[in-house]
Amino acid sequence: MPRLKLVPATEPSLAEKVRQRVRAMPRPAAVLQCNRCGGREMIETKTGMLFKDGKASGGTKQILCAACLLKGERVVVL
Ligand SMILES: [Zn+2]
Repeated sequence: MPRLKLVPATEPSLAEKVRQRVRAMPRPAAVLQCNRCGGREMIETKTGMLFKDGKASGGTKQILCAACLLKGERVVVL
């Protein structure tokens, strides 16, 4: 049976500590914006939903720019 040796934990460097702290912070909320027209009005769509027991469910959610949609363009924002 191999003998296990305890390796002392190395103290993280100052830069690593800063990186850990930044990673632990919550990401700031940002306003969704269309990258084609700069609009901020969005429409949520779902593709491939299932209709079961009188209810629609599932499907792939996508967020489209409403302004571009009115112009006949389908711009997926998220
Ligand atoms: Zn747009």
